[in-house]
Amino acid sequence: MFKSLMMDDYQLTLVQLLERLGTYFPDNDVVTRLADGTIHRYTYRDCYNRSHQLSNALRRLGVKEGDRVGTLGWNTFRHMEAYLAIPTMGAVLHTLNLRLHPHDLAYIADHAGDSVIIADRSLLPLLEQFKGEVKSLRHVIVMPDDGPTPEGYLDYEQLIAGESTDFAYPDIDERSAAAMCYTSGTTGHPKGVVYGHRSSVLHSLTAALPDALGLSERDRVLPVVPMFHANAWSLPYGAALTGASMIFPGPVLQPPVLLDLMAAEKVTIAAGVPTIWNGVLALLDQDASKWDISALRYMLVGGSAAPPAMIEGFKKRHGLDMVHAWGMTEMSPIGSLARVKNKELDAGPEVALGRRASQGYAVPFVDTRHVDDAGTVLPWDGQTMGELEVRGPWVAATYYNNDEQADRFTPDGWFKTGDIVTIDSEGYITITDRSKDVIKSGGEWISTVALENAIMAHPAIMEAAVFAARHPKWDERPLAAVVFKPGQEATKDELNAFLEKDFAKFWLPDDYLVVPEIPKTSVGKFQKIRLREEYGEYLMKGN
Ligand code: AMP
Repeated sequence: MFKSLMMDDYQLTLVQLLERLGTYFPDNDVVTRLADGTIHRYTYRDCYNRSHQLSNALRRLGVKEGDRVGTLGWNTFRHMEAYLAIPTMGAVLHTLNLRLHPHDLAYIADHAGDSVIIADRSLLPLLEQFKGEVKSLRHVIVMPDDGPTPEGYLDYEQLIAGESTDFAYPDIDERSAAAMCYTSGTTGHPKGVVYGHRSSVLHSLTAALPDALGLSERDRVLPVVPMFHANAWSLPYGAALTGASMIFPGPVLQPPVLLDLMAAEKVTIAAGVPTIWNGVLALLDQDASKWDISALRYMLVGGSAAPPAMIEGFKKRHGLDMVHAWGMTEMSPIGSLARVKNKELDAGPEVALGRRASQGYAVPFVDTRHVDDAGTVLPWDGQTMGELEVRGPWVAATYYNNDEQADRFTPDGWFKTGDIVTIDSEGYITITDRSKDVIKSGGEWISTVALENAIMAHPAIMEAAVFAARHPKWDERPLAAVVFKPGQEATKDELNAFLEKDFAKFWLPDDYLVVPEIPKTSVGKFQKIRLREEYGEYLMKGN
């Protein structure tokens, strides 16, 4: 090899992002809408200093390099501080999904080995339900988001108040872990994805490109997407890299509140799942004159398929652009974006809508291919369906301490996404189905297998299959097809009451359809495709 003479050992770490934010953009602001509707506002100078204070405080509490520090919080400035402080002190930021059932949170925090959890005060009732099961947990730090920290807890503000605003970073290897996020899947336990410094830097850098998220120092970015959902789609680190201001919505994500915030703060980019934007569109359709959101460059939508009617509705009726992105927790998360290429800009609105409603083409350094059941790579003809596989520097190479899902990683180095797609000659991906038995409701996963197992434990039930039905608000909701044991029956309320103790409320099926038999494949698996074909529109018909 004729060796490169560049500084190839220069380490790509999140320290450079934090330093950049503090050095070049100290006057840009960070805005948070608090639970009571008041606005908290400070600058990146404050954010940088307080991040250092948090790192010092955590170090004083005994947090060492590689230790996992969990966060259980809404999208706020303090959560941003945790995003910056924890990885840059060499520890690992573990964002906990506050919508999960306490059973799952107990498993996840325990499995990750969280030694400290930083939680919003408003979420303490949730934390109380699982913290006792986290064997590694040594400290809970309370962020006083909706009132003073109760007795017996470490208060975030008091903890950092006495600390220095200078922090001596450790030497961080770019391949060391920076953050963790768990994703619920088909069967088995939630799976932990461990992001590195290098992967996070490369991901943020690519995400910021003009034809990706196109972040600029002039932007004012509103992540409605929760900070526990796959790095909030890279927006916090993207902002640190570029200097874009952050507008955090706090706990209230109702459409009028979001529109008020977008108007008042002159938001230029807002990001969320389709359910959020559907609500916003409905409100704008009622009376768009209430809000001046002309500063908005575009709304980023992802996490579930964005309906073409929504993309078109925003454009046609309100002149607003949506950018549709596809990604996965396992991909940090950005994989592809649905941008219309220059050569097709004049091809008419139908072509443009088709492109913008697809899952788009891959960002740089994400390789895509789709394969059939035998693993044969399929042609990019826009017609042949197969499972999408990806690889790249910010794609998980394995899950954290979990062998159950080892077959998601192919021997030749690709990750099997579970999404069934076509890819056309231009590289545009269109998701046509999912091989994984999960439901995505308002951007949150619901595992059908876990629900089925629980329903089938009910004494009146012989068999149950849970599947995704389309829903006008939540995109998908669970429906259960059930077969009763001879001579037995149970009502919807009885069955839901039976499930309630084990599942988050939003997991409970919207309805139970009594069927004579669950359709099955040749190998006896539930044929959910058939159920979806037959009952997939059930909830759209007002049931
Ligand atoms: P998560 O890891 O929770 O972000 O979920 C990733 C999965 O969500 C993907 O594998 C897809 O099944 C689905 N998903 C994410 N973005 C989109 C999108 N834009 N269109 C359709 N499905 C999506």
